[in-house]
Amino acid sequence: MAPADQVSLVTGNKKRLLIIWDFDRTIMDDDSDRWVVVQMGLTHLFKHLRQTLPWNSLMDRMMEELHSQGKTVEDIVNCLNRVPLHPQIVSAIKSAHGQGCDLKVLSDANQFFIETILKNHGIYDCFSEIITNPTVVDKEGRLRIFPYHGSEMPPHGCDLCSLNLCKGLVVKQMQDSTSEDVKKQVIIYIGDGKGDFCPTLKLGIEDHVMPRKDFRLHNLILKSSVPIKAEVHEWSDGEELNKILFRLIDPLEA
Ligand SMILES: [Mg+2]
Ligand SMILES: [Zn+2]
Repeated sequence: MAPADQVSLVTGNKKRLLIIWDFDRTIMDDDSDRWVVVQMGLTHLFKHLRQTLPWNSLMDRMMEELHSQGKTVEDIVNCLNRVPLHPQIVSAIKSAHGQGCDLKVLSDANQFFIETILKNHGIYDCFSEIITNPTVVDKEGRLRIFPYHGSEMPPHGCDLCSLNLCKGLVVKQMQDSTSEDVKKQVIIYIGDGKGDFCPTLKLGIEDHVMPRKDFRLHNLILKSSVPIKAEVHEWSDGEELNKILFRLIDPLEA
């Protein structure tokens, strides 16, 4: 993309650069579900039930187990508050937001874990939207985790994605929005996992995808039989992610 085009992405009042962030192993270096399972002593039960339940229901079951052990939502918050984030990822998020980009999280983790971690690191307000599996704390104080594509929505019918969330469908719905701003919007998609491949296929020639090097998404892109239209920029850690992101955003560096 020519430098002149880059300038137009972020100048003016309109936010036309949309950065979509996966959460686990992207914003957070570890996996939030794994973190809670390991830190709260659920590894054995998790492994025992892994083959019998879909991931999303399994995590809901894990929260039931914590509740039955007398662990509270505060205990879960305390556990999530120990999650470290790479300082360069935190600063990349803050500066991208500061430069007027629209930031969204699109994740197969869950609302409670993501919101707690982002708030703890002071970056929750940098995101205009968090699209993920919804959560509620019920009357008994148990954290419930539900699928994004719940029973009230028609099945997404995508065989690349898990039943509870097709990220490609979410990206497609963003692109199909009738607003003029959205039509001119350029997407930067940052992720690492298998579930990030479907949305990558929805990106156009003006868009960018930033797969984490040597992780599943990167490998799927490398061996894809379908051409990837978006420009691919791989990254290994927070420092590299920060540099690449700002090369894409900052017209002064071009
Ligand atoms: Mg991930
Ligand atoms: Zn899909």
